[in-house]
Amino acid sequence: MRALRLLAWKSEPEFADVEEPRPGPGQVLVRIAGAGVCHSDLHLMHDFEPGQLPWGPPFTLGHENAGWVHALGEGVTGLAPGQPVAVYGPWGCGVCRNCRVGVETYCENPEGAPAPGGGGGLGIDGGMAEFMLVPYARHVVPLPEGLDPVLAAPLTDAGLTPYHAVRRSWPKLVPGSTAVVIGVGGLGHLALQIVKATTAARVIAVDVREEALAHARELGADLALPSGEDTAARIKDATRGTGADVVIDCVGNDATLGLGAACARQLGDLTIVGIGGGTLPVSFFTLPYELSVQTTYWGSRPELIEVLDLAARGLLHTTITRFAFDEAPEAYARLARGGLTGRAVVTP
Ligand code: NAD
Ligand code: ZN
Repeated sequence: MRALRLLAWKSEPEFADVEEPRPGPGQVLVRIAGAGVCHSDLHLMHDFEPGQLPWGPPFTLGHENAGWVHALGEGVTGLAPGQPVAVYGPWGCGVCRNCRVGVETYCENPEGAPAPGGGGGLGIDGGMAEFMLVPYARHVVPLPEGLDPVLAAPLTDAGLTPYHAVRRSWPKLVPGSTAVVIGVGGLGHLALQIVKATTAARVIAVDVREEALAHARELGADLALPSGEDTAARIKDATRGTGADVVIDCVGNDATLGLGAACARQLGDLTIVGIGGGTLPVSFFTLPYELSVQTTYWGSRPELIEVLDLAARGLLHTTITRFAFDEAPEAYARLARGGLTGRAVVTP
């Protein structure tokens, strides 16, 4: 079968012929309906140095995947061929304390993980191919009824990642509070809906692109602001001078981290989700008092079930642009030049 593979760091992915995988004991072969085109893949192509991560190329791209069970390895029960499923992408050891509660992103036993800190499409072959081998059946999550696997694919990362970030700030997102979502692309367009669907907070969306701001308004943002010099002041104005209770930064460059710190409220949360390479100077007087700053990586297995449920109930809408398999490089090019609304999904 053909697969879109990253063959080396600092390179563009290439189509290659690879052998169709066969599921071994405990494994599941998934026929891919959709594979999401994530900005992290652009970072993989351009930003990482050899040796920076504990895993590396060559591997098949695509870490946001959903499709149908194609074949089951020996001993796998509870799944049936043809069943629509999503793939939980971070693959830990399965037995450490974090993995046991489904937080495989933070596996504490790297020797036991197939690609420590990575997973399908991140160090191990992912879903930019007709079939994807999932090494442990626990990583295959049945889709709730009525959820199209092509629309579900982005939920496994572009949905799950902000869901995890928003969920950990739930106690601060009370009625009267405000959440700011910076960057309304693949992750951000879902982040703002997740705040709306799961809390009573108001949402302010920020982006540099007018199309993204228009999209944020369509999706229910209470206010959508261009990113610029006066954005923090406008957020303060919109929050009676106090600032945002929670900021979810889906960009993570110097400008957005600076904005996050400038518009956040004392006692608030600033959660850095974007891998934009920025840094945030921290000293006694640079941050609001008791602002909690955290980075988050992807999400947990139980959280994926919750995200899928939100979508199946119509509370979360993935805005997608479909690309045929041959057009996958064009999808990445469009993402790189900021020419997409929501998420691009490749349909192998
Ligand atoms: P995307 O390209 O779809 O969206 C990014 C959005 O940010 C775009 O709408 C863009 O216009 C906007 N933007 C760019 N610069 C901006 C600025 N200065 N101010 C405001 N908005 C700005 O990307 P994506 O796939 O949603 O990914 C977003 C980031 O999150 C990437 O860095 C990606 O690698 C990272 N990511 C992190 C995790 C994680 O687990 N932490 C998971 C997935 C993606
Ligand atoms: Zn991703």
